[in-house]
Amino acid sequence: MAHRNTRRAQEIKSQLIEKLGSKCELCPRRDDLQFDHREGSDWVLNKLSYLQRMNIYKQEVEQNKIRLLCGACNRKIRLHNGVRFQKTNTAGVPAERIPF
Ligand SMILES: [Zn+2]
Repeated sequence: MAHRNTRRAQEIKSQLIEKLGSKCELCPRRDDLQFDHREGSDWVLNKLSYLQRMNIYKQEVEQNKIRLLCGACNRKIRLHNGVRFQKTNTAGVPAERIPF
């Protein structure tokens, strides 16, 4: 039973990755992809089973709350403690305040 749920979860995961373009949103990598909440999440990942998490991600992908990041980009964002990546260096922002 648990095994079947894991397979189902993996199926959902690969469908979602495909739907999101199979690529990191911030760099060209196509491996080590992870889901990232654009605005942070209000639920606790590690209290849920793999399948439960994938079902939530599925809904959130439909609502455009999720993007794909590779492990390296995801870690860089986390290192900056909730500072969200901005594609453009908007005028007046000191270089050291820009993540990456
Ligand atoms: Zn990346």
